[in-house]
Amino acid sequence: MNIIFLGPPGAGKGTQAQRICAALNIPQISTGDILRRAIKEQTPTGLKAKSYIDAGKLVPDEVIIDIVKDRLAQDDCQNGYILDGFPRTVPQAEALTHIANIDSVIELAVDDQHLINRLSGRRVCLKCGATYHISLLDGKTTCAACGEELIQRDDDKAETVLNRLTVYHDQTAPLVSFYEGKGLLHRIDGAQGMDVIFQSIMETLGVK
Ligand code: ADP
Ligand code: ADP
Ligand code: ZN
Repeated sequence: MNIIFLGPPGAGKGTQAQRICAALNIPQISTGDILRRAIKEQTPTGLKAKSYIDAGKLVPDEVIIDIVKDRLAQDDCQNGYILDGFPRTVPQAEALTHIANIDSVIELAVDDQHLINRLSGRRVCLKCGATYHISLLDGKTTCAACGEELIQRDDDKAETVLNRLTVYHDQTAPLVSFYEGKGLLHRIDGAQGMDVIFQSIMETLGVK
């Protein structure tokens, strides 16, 4: 199954993608994780992407489309995947129609006030991509999955968060009607608890 997770920053896409991918044994393709790794390794793509990410802006479509095209061609994607954070613009979604057949789009809907709280408390593991919230970490500073030190993303600081929400409403939210029009969209209330959301995504995908 080829699945897209759509939703604003902080909606829980990464959290749920990790869980659903583990349950279905398919890869999670997070363009944000790929870019953060590229920045850490100072690859040419990473160097190009950094200033956009730091400003809370989107990385240019052609850079992202190339990354996704390469990633989807790899062997582990042939039995399905979850795209987490891609597409984020109409041109990206149009490019994707030439690369992949999408079976389902899951929209996690959460209002801005909730998102600001979630993003300001988010802690991430750059090594394995696991995501945590400070309110649930009990003072722990390392990744429960792999032991790496957790960090706060620079773009989760308050000033950048507001830019990212504006960018979402302007550039990514139009994809809701794009996929509604194709009959692929399933909206889930992302303000519910993580377990409830997980169950409703599994039901929506027809797996239990
Ligand atoms: P979040 O999980 O908060 O939604 P991501 O980790 O998906 O954020 O993305 C972080 C940043 O990486 C974005 O603000 C943007 O700069 C860049 N990025 C990630 N995916 C894309 C994409 N599909 N198109 C353009 N930029 C992207
Ligand atoms: P996204 O990938 O959409 O940007 P994340 O999965 O990284 O979002 O989640 C953003 C923050 O919100 C993280 O700190 C995460 O632990 C927390 N979070 C995720 N889902 C929920 C939920 N259903 N309820 C409360 N907090 C959540
Ligand atoms: Zn980790």
